[in-house]
Amino acid sequence: MLIDTHSHIYSEDFNDDIEEVLQNAYNNDVRKIVLPNIDSGTIKRLLDLSNAYPHVCYPLMGLHPTSVSHDYKEELSLVEYWLEKQKFYGIGEIGIDLYWDRTYINEQKDAFRHQIKLAKSRNLPIVIHVRESFNEVYEIVNEEQDGTLKGIFHCFSGDETEAKKVIDLGFFIRNWRSCDIQK
Ligand SMILES: [Zn+2]
Repeated sequence: MLIDTHSHIYSEDFNDDIEEVLQNAYNNDVRKIVLPNIDSGTIKRLLDLSNAYPHVCYPLMGLHPTSVSHDYKEELSLVEYWLEKQKFYGIGEIGIDLYWDRTYINEQKDAFRHQIKLAKSRNLPIVIHVRESFNEVYEIVNEEQDGTLKGIFHCFSGDETEAKKVIDLGFFIRNWRSCDIQK
């Protein structure tokens, strides 16, 4: 059995062929698919798909770094609202992305740290998006790591030294490619 730890197949790009996509995944032994959220605009589709296929699709709740802007505090309250309301399997996707835009770097750091604390208080794993931001992400995770924090570095493109630092933090690494959510 395989688990896809990171997929955004609730996106409207899959409206027409979602059943075929899920069937193909099943035929290739993928039995569980983890769905990280993006922002307030994707929650409905995320939950609709997770509710339609509850033994296949496992939703995460979080605010993606490329969706952090002037209104990020409202977005974060929505994340907390949903975490109170129903079960999620982790906090994601969270992190820092300085590839597309550096405008909101401080807000991205604040949102990241805030969501790590949400994960710690609920004992949930985190899915981290890191893009041209290894040092910034590392600094925050290292500060927040108290032995309870666990999860995956996703969209990782670092070298061997950086990979070792991630593993020493107690985290896993998923793929060297860029995240499929791009703006
Ligand atoms: Zn993603």
